[in-house]
Amino acid sequence: MKPPAFAYHAARSAEETISLLAEVGDEGKILAGGQSLIPVLNMRLVAPAHVIDINRVAGWNGIEVNPDTVTIGALVRHAELEASEAAYAAQPLLRQALRHVAHPAIRNRGTTVGSLAHADPAGEMPAILALCDGSVVATSARGDRAISAADFFLGPLESCLEADEVLVSASFRRFPTGTGTAYAEISRRSGDYALVGVGAAVTVEDGQVTGARVGLVSVHPLPLSLDLTETLRGGIDELTGRLDGAVDLVRESAEPEADIHATAAYRSQLLGVLTRRALSEAAATAIGSPSDRSDQG
Ligand code: FAD
Repeated sequence: MKPPAFAYHAARSAEETISLLAEVGDEGKILAGGQSLIPVLNMRLVAPAHVIDINRVAGWNGIEVNPDTVTIGALVRHAELEASEAAYAAQPLLRQALRHVAHPAIRNRGTTVGSLAHADPAGEMPAILALCDGSVVATSARGDRAISAADFFLGPLESCLEADEVLVSASFRRFPTGTGTAYAEISRRSGDYALVGVGAAVTVEDGQVTGARVGLVSVHPLPLSLDLTETLRGGIDELTGRLDGAVDLVRESAEPEADIHATAAYRSQLLGVLTRRALSEAAATAIGSPSDRSDQG
């Protein structure tokens, strides 16, 4: 299929992007990697009068590892972030989840920030942003604004981004020393969207679990993140006994829906299995167990 006609603009700078957006308002759409926008254009699910291509904008393609965050520009491709050793060392969940995003060809072109802007609760990276307590920066003629993940996502494919705003970066917070992470997912075929995905981070200090969070994919209208610290707090050696409580809490908090791929009950069942798996692997990594890590192999 072919998209409806639109005016194409190749923006060359942040300023040009902002002024084009101010001019066209809600008649415009940003084009980043095009891996979600082009299919929906071709299916005629959206029909913007203007498409603003940001691929030539200078300065939006860096990966910065800071003491507290990993910050990526709007043009960083999934594959580039996945391959970054510095980003992996600082926030392993990025690579652990990114390797489940679509196929390599799509990851070569699709941007991680574009995936956040797309706000699909079946996407891995919105859930990872929520799990890391991350944030995005949007800019417009009115200036910059930082938006936390908790405020950014409003519903399926819906964010609080205004029509004249473009995302310039996203920041994923780093976890404290002693934190292990893992990502577990089931999809029908390799590269498909997740039936269910669970990212987990568990912090262990002196043999005690002092922090635990999960981020959930495909089981809620929003990329849901849950703090399980109170349920899992205590000695690491007895963690297994406390996992049932965490699994119950996660399954009660999520609102999985049925679709052509799975019933809601099956998704809920998978959610329990994957929550247990991700939390166990994250805890094992936190205490330095020789590689139970979900990203190896
Ligand atoms: P685009 O397609 O260019 O844009 C997507 C939307 O975000 C558009 O509305 C656009 O206007 C907006 N946008 C993009 N960048 C910005 C910005 N900087 N500021 C404001 N708005 C912006 N994703 C997953 O998470 N998991 C999967 O398993 C998965 N499987 C896929 C399988 C297939 C076959 C395909 C085609 C895609 C799949 N995707 C999957 C989507 C992929 O990850 C996309 O790359 C991503 O969702 C969007 O990134 P993009 O750079 O391609 O954005």
